Amino acid sequence: MNNDQLKKLIREVPDFPKPGILFYDITTLLKDASGLKAVIDEFGKRYHGRSVDVVLGIEARGFIFAPAVAYALGVGFVPVRKPKKLPAETVREEYQLEYGTDSLEIHRDAIQPGQRVLIVDDVLATGGTAAAVTRLIEKLGGKVAGLGFVLELDFLHGRDKVAGYELFSLLHYEK
Ligand code: AMP
Repeated sequence: MNNDQLKKLIREVPDFPKPGILFYDITTLLKDASGLKAVIDEFGKRYHGRSVDVVLGIEARGFIFAPAVAYALGVGFVPVRKPKKLPAETVREEYQLEYGTDSLEIHRDAIQPGQRVLIVDDVLATGGTAAAVTRLIEKLGGKVAGLGFVLELDFLHGRDKVAGYELFSLLHYEK
């Protein structure tokens, strides 16, 4: 399946969750057997043989792709969650939203110093979330092995917020 065919499987919903936002709905890709397989296979190929010790996924939609990529690479999966969801000792990072701030947490023992962590998420938009996660990894002494996204909204220039890291997006969108 090529990238244009994959794009056709992603539903574009105007004005969700608020007016002016075009939402890229991946549920229509997920329910398609060949589409889902093509995406995970593509990530598997891209990172096979690279040094990745663990794959990290961000609540909530990152939890769909990241464990599948971890399985494909034969490594473990680490969740990053919204505050107060993880039960053991955590480390927290704040990041800017359009209005106000939000936070993400990771278990303090989720990553060992020196471990190489691949971040996998569905969408790279403004890059605020991804940048916060790189800080969480580095707080724990881990190394960011790369960032992988199913789709990138190029016009938001999110990759500038994580400049210097290896970054891959399967699909690219212009406004
Ligand atoms: P950001 O921190 O701006 O890069 O956005 C992070 C998360 O917001 C992504 O991982 C998506 O889950 C979600 N997101 C942002 N914009 C969109 C969009 N237009 N369509 C679908 N999901 C989005």
